[in-house]
Amino acid sequence: MRPDILNPLFAETQSLEGVGPKLMKPLGKLGLERVKDIAYHLPDRFVTRRAIADLDEGAEGEQVIVALTPTEHRASRSARGPFRVLAQDGAGNICAITYFGRASYTAKKLLPVGERRWVAGRLDRYGDMLQIVHPDHVESESAANLGRLNEPVYRLSEGLTQPRVAGLVEQALERLPELPEWIEPGQLERAGWPNWRDALRLSHRNENAPARDRLAYDELLANSLALLLVKADSRRRKGQALVGDGRLRVQLALPFEMTGAQKRSIAEIEGDMAQEAPMLRLLQGDVGAGKTVVALAAMLIAVEAGKQTALLAPTEILARQHYETLRTMAAPTGAEVALLTGRAKGREREGLLMGLLDGSIDIIVGTHSLFQDSVAYKDLGLVVIDEQHRFGVAQRLALAAKGKRSPHTLAMTATPIPRSLTLAQYGEMDVSRLDELPPGRQAIDTRVVAQDRMDDVVAGVARHLASGQQAYWVCPMVRDNESDDIAAAEARFAALRERFGDAVVMVHGQLAPEVKDANMERFASGEAMLLVATTVIEVGVDVPAATLMVIEQAERFGLAQLHQLRGRVGRGSEKSVCLLVRGAELSETGRKRLALMRETQDGFRIAEEDLELRGGGELLGTRQSGEAAFSIADLDQVQRLLPAAHADARILIDRDGGLTSARGEAARILLYLFERDWGVQLLRGG
Ligand code: ADP
Ligand code: MG
Repeated sequence: MRPDILNPLFAETQSLEGVGPKLMKPLGKLGLERVKDIAYHLPDRFVTRRAIADLDEGAEGEQVIVALTPTEHRASRSARGPFRVLAQDGAGNICAITYFGRASYTAKKLLPVGERRWVAGRLDRYGDMLQIVHPDHVESESAANLGRLNEPVYRLSEGLTQPRVAGLVEQALERLPELPEWIEPGQLERAGWPNWRDALRLSHRNENAPARDRLAYDELLANSLALLLVKADSRRRKGQALVGDGRLRVQLALPFEMTGAQKRSIAEIEGDMAQEAPMLRLLQGDVGAGKTVVALAAMLIAVEAGKQTALLAPTEILARQHYETLRTMAAPTGAEVALLTGRAKGREREGLLMGLLDGSIDIIVGTHSLFQDSVAYKDLGLVVIDEQHRFGVAQRLALAAKGKRSPHTLAMTATPIPRSLTLAQYGEMDVSRLDELPPGRQAIDTRVVAQDRMDDVVAGVARHLASGQQAYWVCPMVRDNESDDIAAAEARFAALRERFGDAVVMVHGQLAPEVKDANMERFASGEAMLLVATTVIEVGVDVPAATLMVIEQAERFGLAQLHQLRGRVGRGSEKSVCLLVRGAELSETGRKRLALMRETQDGFRIAEEDLELRGGGELLGTRQSGEAAFSIADLDQVQRLLPAAHADARILIDRDGGLTSARGEAARILLYLFERDWGVQLLRGG
């Protein structure tokens, strides 16, 4: 049970003044569901604005406050285009105030024609016109309160404004309870960090490195603690030593020779499974590295030893795909392979449950439904987790550890992670790396093209589609204001659709899951030829025929992300091409990153160099894109603070494994605060 002291933090956002059902949607989009989420919605940056008498005084890119009088409301020709309000300053200069997404209602209300308003925002240029996109403030009164020093700038979603969010943050901060200290006192003193409550309040007030570091450290500490608790718990549990006699594995009629890396990984897994202590191993390998056969070999070891085994996929589509592959590959061995997803209903579901209970199913593939309470196994010896959500792993380990005897666990990930970060993400799991691609793979021909050659790019895509092959078109989804990105992606989709008709489908995060799935399936089945996608394409979905990928504004993606996206082509022996279209303004680092993409396809190398290149600074929207492992700590903080946090966690667990001391109690609160309470639950159960 969550400690009572945290209740005010876990109260719904709706308990804050002024939050009604209407705000719940935009807040929900940002994941701001509880008071604590609001308190932890830290400013992206702070701005200091300058009041200018007329537009001529402002520099391009500057944060300004200026009095403007709207002269015209101009809807865009396409329903999805931006809505512009043309407005005039005192000297007669014209400026466009631009809104993307379905914001015309807001814009008209805030900026009625003929009425002077004070507008605060970033002065930009659009063609030969000045423009302010999504102003932070529009006020009818004096500009006095807009010119604050260090005004926090929060990440927004459609329907929210800066003052709105700032007001909610204020309320949330007032409700912060005083919590006992969980950080080791010496550490706190050495670093000169404030206590938890002050740290949160200070972080919203100005750039305060010690306060932000402390909050990041909290998150890292919580994470390390939880991972260590999982590990300690699995050590306490008995597993079962599984030794296969090889009789099924020899029957696999593989059309290829395993690579050295695959053989080595299988040997490592086999060694672990032969121990009584449950295996906790991570199999890392790029897309196409051949993780599936390694997993299958591990699964067959369990089956040879008379046990059942389950493969857990993150989505329904991936589960289906794994099922088809494994069933085909395992056919010669006679192992019984089945699929269980949320879609299985009635008789079918009962049949599957029966098969799991009586042991007639050897290998079950499915989504999280595999671990519902209603699903019971005769004797589950191995769980394979095909992972996408970073923290899913440990959490699912806890799930899998339900029984008295824990199954062995193998987690698979296609995300190459720098060595220094593996600890943060997976705790002390053992790692096998597939760092060698199967032979015969064609390198992906990666080229960097300038934005102004877009016509050539489209012509190239046309030729490709005409030759009967599929292609991907990826648009970035990483901006502060997501509606800009959606608008851009939809505009691109509309243009491509105009050119290629029904052959084009689109997926992005704002689509209903059914629509997304249906579009994906149309592409996977070959009915659609071009898939326009934002960064949300499901990582593992295989479309073997696609041999061309266009990535727009490639410099805005993280390298690891580019690498993963690119990994979707170049699967087979066909030659594949990846076109990285770069936008106009390319920084030094941006240039280096694109060059690196051209140079190598080694995910591990890309991950290491990406970390180098990014340093701490440029963290391009990684939070939104789900690339970041943590919600508070950024990459730089992870690197600087994780070693200490991890050591601290370990000392605490060594001294007080039950978390019963005063500091242990505080640490429990921390675990609940960061929703790593599955760690605490293991304490109780163990
Ligand atoms: P991953 O899951 O790591 O992305 P897969 O297991 O799906 O990769 O393998 C990608 C493709 O490579 C599959 O078609 C698979 O049959 C093939 N493959 C795997 N191992 C080898 C190998 N050693 N030699 C040749 N092809 C291989
Ligand atoms: Mg795979």
